Parts: sequence; C-alpha cells; structure tokens
Amino acid sequence: MKKFITGMLVLSLLFSMAACEEKNGFVEKTTELKTAFLSQEAEVLNQTDETKTDDTLEIKDTFISDQMMEEEEIGLYAEYAINNGEIVLVQGMDNDGIVYEEDKLIWEKIKLIVPEKYMAMITKFEVVTDGLDGILASVNLNEDNKTWTISVDLDDTLDENYEFTGESIVTLIHEMSHIIALNYTQMVEEVDDKTLYTVMEGTLKKDSYLSLFYDKFWKHHMAEYSVNSEEENIDNENDYHFYSEYKEEFINEYAATNPVEDFAESFAYFVVRPKPTDSSIKSQKLLFFYEFPEFIKIRDSIRKTIDINKVNEKAR
Ligand SMILES: [Zn+2]
Repeated sequence: MKKFITGMLVLSLLFSMAACEEKNGFVEKTTELKTAFLSQEAEVLNQTDETKTDDTLEIKDTFISDQMMEEEEIGLYAEYAINNGEIVLVQGMDNDGIVYEEDKLIWEKIKLIVPEKYMAMITKFEVVTDGLDGILASVNLNEDNKTWTISVDLDDTLDENYEFTGESIVTLIHEMSHIIALNYTQMVEEVDDKTLYTVMEGTLKKDSYLSLFYDKFWKHHMAEYSVNSEEENIDNENDYHFYSEYKEEFINEYAATNPVEDFAESFAYFVVRPKPTDSSIKSQKLLFFYEFPEFIKIRDSIRKTIDINKVNEKAR
C-alpha cells in the first residue's frame, strides 16, 4: 500500500503542474464560490483559513477562488466517472484503467454516508490533494446544473488504518448537505417571484429546505450582513464582525460565512451531535432538521455506519 501511495504522489506533482497551467477541472466551479454572494467574494477569500471552530468539530471545506487557485497548487490524482454506482477511471496514472485501491475505498465509504438519492446525482469523483491539511473535500455543480462532482483530498481523508478520520466524516456530511440544499429539485425552473431566495446555483423554491432555513435564521440579518461584508471587502481584513456580533447564533465561525455554509454546518452537527435540549438559536438550527422525517432517516442511517464517538472525539 505504501509503495502505491508514493507512486500516486509523483503523479500528483505532474497533475499539479497541469492544473496550474490550465486551471481546469477541479476548481472551475466550486459550490462555495458559486453560492457566495458576489459582494462577498473577497470575504470568502479571507476566510479560507478560518475553518477552526469554537469548541468543536473542525471543518475543512472548500472555499476556492481564482485567486486562491493561483496561489495554491491542487493536484489531481485521478478522475472517475460513475457507472451504476461504481467508479470508472477517466484519467490518472497510466494503469490501464484500473481503479486505484485507495480511491475505491474512499468511494465505498462515501456511499455509506451519502444516501442513494443523492449519490445518484454525483456523476464525477475526483481524488485530489492540496497537500496535508487545507481543503478536505468539495462538491461542485456540473455544467448541466443537475449533476455533481465530488472531490476528496486523498492525503487528508484516511487515517493510518485506511479509515475515514472523524474530520473527514463530518466534512463529507457537510458536503452532502450542499447537494441536499442546492440540487435542482430544490430550485424553481422559472423565476416568477423576485422575493425568492437566490444563490449562485439558482433560485430556490419557497418551500425548499434552504429557503425555510434562510427565512427562519437569516432573512432578518441580511441588511446588516451585507453591509458588513462590503466593509470587510474594503479594508480586506478578516474581521468577523458579523460572527462576533451574533456568535451565539452560530455553531461555529465557519457557519457564519453565509446561509449556505450555516445550513451545511448545522446539518453536519445535526447528524453527529446529540439532539439539543436547549432553545438557543444555534440549537434551533439543529432542531430545524428534526422537523423533516427524511433527515432523521439520513441521520439514523449515517450514525449506524460510523463510530459516532470516534467522530466527535477525533474531530475535536
Ligand atoms: Zn461548504
């Protein structure tokens, strides 16, 4: 196994160079970049390193931007298409189309976490790296606006026993919830109501999960939130004014980035943490998901396949 990985690392360097030149593939459209409000892009850049949480789980999510792409080298180990739930090598080291062992392992573990309904929306799987730490996983909406690419950092995902780290499990749940919130079934086909909540993926149905979450927890903050975002753009400081003002409402700092990230973070905590018993707003965000039987089902099923203690312990 070790020897195998060394071979892959060499490949990574090659792909890093290619990625730098062409800037294609992995980063062209990240969910986060697309969902970030345009006025917030600079803020998004600043937040790349700010993924540490208060007391809690640490998420390495995917804020990638053009600027970041110039600075970071992201290597592609291998790219896979999905055929009947199985991965099929599209590009990677010249191994006659044979799927890499670790990649298959990761894919099978993703299948244990992500329910079939959402797995069916994923048509591309990329195994990448930006070195140790940095980005752990990301999901990107493909050009058809219907299907998704999931990218996972091979160097950060598995522990020495080839198991998912607690952190990777939480991150994958977070990424999955982007697909839950932003997939085409959640969007209107034609915008006939200008009051509907719009993200870069499209305009959300009034009764979509994210719209409901937004209406309940974000709408009343938006005027202030936007002003602060603009200020942060001007002075280019990573000043978490909004977060520090409303710290009590967020599960962690990263969640205060925007409604999309808040939804994803809260969802991940909903899955891995016990049901809250208090009525704080951050707990209400977790309780929000308990209102949907389909989410409780997802929660139960994920918790059956993972060692929940390990997740909470190791992800601290
Ligand atoms: Zn995210």
